[in-house]
Amino acid sequence: MSETHISDKVGKPRKAHWCRVCGEMIAASETCHIYRGVADGEGFYTLYFHPDCWEYSRGWDGADWECASPGDVSRREVREWLETESRLASAARTAATTWRG
Ligand SMILES: [Zn+2]
Repeated sequence: MSETHISDKVGKPRKAHWCRVCGEMIAASETCHIYRGVADGEGFYTLYFHPDCWEYSRGWDGADWECASPGDVSRREVREWLETESRLASAARTAATTWRG
């Protein structure tokens, strides 16, 4: 089975949806990432993501998506991951500044 990406954008859904990554509710009109694709034999589908869950899943490949069910990763884990990422990024910036100085 192959899947084709159609579009992804930041938007505000008119209805509430479940987040594909953390499985928690995205409220109607809450800013989220909306992904549209088409799968062979299954037709068109739309997935919704919290903005941070979208960031978190950027490194996933097809196999990761197939194994991961909504809720396998909690919103808290996503937030902790993002915090670690931004801490590392700012530590790298500090190190760069120190080296130059
Ligand atoms: Zn989420």
